[in-house]
Amino acid sequence: MNWLADARSCPGVFYGTVAQDGFLIRLRTPAGLLSCLQMRAIAQLVESWGIDSVQITNRANLQVRGVQTAPSQETLQTLQMLGLAAQVPELDPLRNLMTSPTAGIDPQEWVDTRPLVRAIDAYLQAHPELAVLSPKFSIGIDGGGRVGIGCRSPVAWEHRYNDIQLSAMRLDASASALTGLAPGLYWRLALAVDKRLQDTSVWIASNQCLPVVAALTQVYRADIATHPPTEKPPRLPHLLHDWGMADYLHRASQHLGYPLKAVTDFPELPASQPYAHLGVHPQRQAGLCYLGVSPVLGRLTTSQMLELAQLADTFGRGELRLTPWQTLVLPHIPSDRVRDVGSHLVALGLAESEDLSTSMPAIVACAGKPGCSKAATQTQTHGYILARSLNQQQMLDAPINIHLTGCPKSCAQPSPAQVTLLGTLIERPESQVEGYHVYWRDAYDSLQQWLGEFPFTEIPALVAQLVSLYQQRRQISYQVLQEVLQQNVAIGEKADFQDYRDWG
Ligand code: SF4
Repeated sequence: MNWLADARSCPGVFYGTVAQDGFLIRLRTPAGLLSCLQMRAIAQLVESWGIDSVQITNRANLQVRGVQTAPSQETLQTLQMLGLAAQVPELDPLRNLMTSPTAGIDPQEWVDTRPLVRAIDAYLQAHPELAVLSPKFSIGIDGGGRVGIGCRSPVAWEHRYNDIQLSAMRLDASASALTGLAPGLYWRLALAVDKRLQDTSVWIASNQCLPVVAALTQVYRADIATHPPTEKPPRLPHLLHDWGMADYLHRASQHLGYPLKAVTDFPELPASQPYAHLGVHPQRQAGLCYLGVSPVLGRLTTSQMLELAQLADTFGRGELRLTPWQTLVLPHIPSDRVRDVGSHLVALGLAESEDLSTSMPAIVACAGKPGCSKAATQTQTHGYILARSLNQQQMLDAPINIHLTGCPKSCAQPSPAQVTLLGTLIERPESQVEGYHVYWRDAYDSLQQWLGEFPFTEIPALVAQLVSLYQQRRQISYQVLQEVLQQNVAIGEKADFQDYRDWG
C-alpha cells in the first residue's frame, strides 16, 4: 500500500487502518449530508475495489472494509473535488462534525444548523496546524428539533457523545428575565468530561459560535503542542479531567479576548428522542416529507446506493442524509409520492412496509470476527441474523437499540443500549461455541444488568422475550424486572449489575 499519510488510530481516505480482512477506509461526510452525485461516486469507487457494500458509521459517515489497494492519486483528487476528502490529507481523520439529520427540514427546530456546520468545517479545514488534534476530537451542533444529537434525550445514556456540543435554545421574554440575557437564539455549550456531556452553563450568541469553537479548539491544540510529537495526543476529555472545566473555559476566554459567562438560572432544553426520524414525517416545508430508513447494521450494497441516489433524484431533490444511528434520511419527498418511494424501499430490502410504519430494531454491531483480531464472535453475521429474526416477527412497536460487541472495547457504540450482547467463547465438552453475555438496561437505571451468558443459537429467542417484556413495561423498576425476568427468561440467580465497557 502506498498511503499518502501515516496510518493513525482513525482511518480516512488517505490511509487505511489495518484489519484482518484488509484495510478500513472512512469517507468524511460533514453532518452526514450527501448529494446523489457523491453517493454514486462512492458506489462506483467501492465497486472498482471489488467490494460490494459500505457501512454507515455512528458518526454519520461511510466506511469501507476489506480494501486491498490504496486509492490512486486521481481517485483522491476526485474525492477532494467532490468534498469527500480533506484538502489537507493530515486533517482528513478529524471526526465528522455531527448535527441532526433533519436540519433545515424539522418543523420543530429552532434553527437550521447546516450553515454553522459548514463554517466550522471550513475553519477546521483551513487550519493545517489542527492536524495534531486527536482524531477522536468531535463537535456536535444541535438545532433544537425533534431529532436531537446533543444532550436533550430524557435518557442520559442515549446522548450522542461529542467533545464539544452546542445546542440551540430560544429565550423568550420570561426566560430572558431569568437569565439576564436579551431575548433571542442562543447556543448552550456542553463539554465531554468523565465519559458524559456536562453542561457548562455558558450561553453563546449565534455570531459567536464559530469564534468560541475556534478558541476551544486552539486551546486544546496549544496543549498538545507541549507534548512530544512522538506521543499520542491526549483526548480533550482527558485534558478536561486534569484541568477542570472552569480552567479550560478561562483559557478559552483569554484566547477569545472576552469572558465566557455562565448563566446560572436557565430553562431546560426541550427533550428529543432517538430514532424519532425513522418512518415518514412531515417537513417544515409544506407538502413535503422526509423518510427515515434503517438498513440492517447500517450496511448498504453498492446497488442499493445507486438505487437510493436514483430515488432521491426522481422523487426528492437529489439529497440524502446519513445519521449517527447508522440509518439514513431521504428528504423532500412530496406527500403524495411517499408510497411510491416506500414500495421501492421495500423492493430494495430497506423497509418492511410501503408506508414505513413497521418498526425495525436499531441493531449496532462492531466489526467482530473475522475483521478484528480481538473479537470473540462474528458480531456482524449474528447482528444480521438477529435483525432478520426480529423483523420477520414484526413485533416491535418502536425501535429498540441492541448492541453486539466482540469485546469490551465497544467500538461501535460507547453508550449503553437497551440490550447489549458482549461476545464470548463458551466452553462445551467437545469444543468452544460463540456466545454472548447479555446485559439489559431500562430507561432509568444507570447500571447494566447482566443476565448470564448464552450460545448465539439461543440469542434470537431470548432477545425476542426481552423485547416483548420491554414493550410491555418500558419503565420497569429493578425489583419488578428481577421478578419478571426470573419468571420469563429463566436466568435465575445469575443476574447481577455491572458495567461491561472498557474504553481503554
Ligand atoms: S469492539 Fe472489540 S471486537 Fe469489536 S471491533 Fe472493537 S476491538 Fe474489535
